[in-house]
Amino acid sequence: MDCVFCKIVKGEIPSKKVYEDGNVIAFLDINPLSEGHTLVIPKKHAENIFDVSEEELSKVMQVVKKISKKRLEEGAKGVNILQNNGKEAGQLVNHIHFHVVPRNGNDKLRFWP
Ligand code: 5GP
Ligand code: ZN
Repeated sequence: MDCVFCKIVKGEIPSKKVYEDGNVIAFLDINPLSEGHTLVIPKKHAENIFDVSEEELSKVMQVVKKISKKRLEEGAKGVNILQNNGKEAGQLVNHIHFHVVPRNGNDKLRFWP
C-alpha cells in the first residue's frame, strides 16, 4: 500500500520519532506549525476516525495525552490537538493521525475562525 505514514512506521522513510511502542508511534511533523509539533498514529493502517477500531483509537489517545503532557513540561503553555477526516476537512495523509501542536502565549497561530 502506498501510504507515507505506513512507510514511516516501517522505517522506509526517515522521521524524527519521539515515542514508539507496539501499537503507536509519534514523530515530529515535517512542516511544523510550532516547535515540537508532533503527529501520533497507530502502526496499523486506518484511514480516519470512521475506519479505526475503538481499541486502536484508545491506544493512540493515551499517547496523545502523554506527548501533550511532555510538551507542557518542556515549557509550552498549552497544546492544540487536531485531527482531520476527509480531504474536504483538510486531511492530506490518509492514515489517521492526531496533531499535537504546542502553544505559547506569543504565537500567532489561529485554528478557529
Ligand atoms: P493533515 O492535513 O493530513 O491532517 O496533515 C498531514 C501532516 O503530515 C502535515 O502537517 C504534514 O506536514 C505532515 N507530513 C506529510 N508528509 C510527511 C512526512 O513524510 N514526514 C513527516 N514527518 N510529516 C509529514
Ligand atoms: Zn498507512
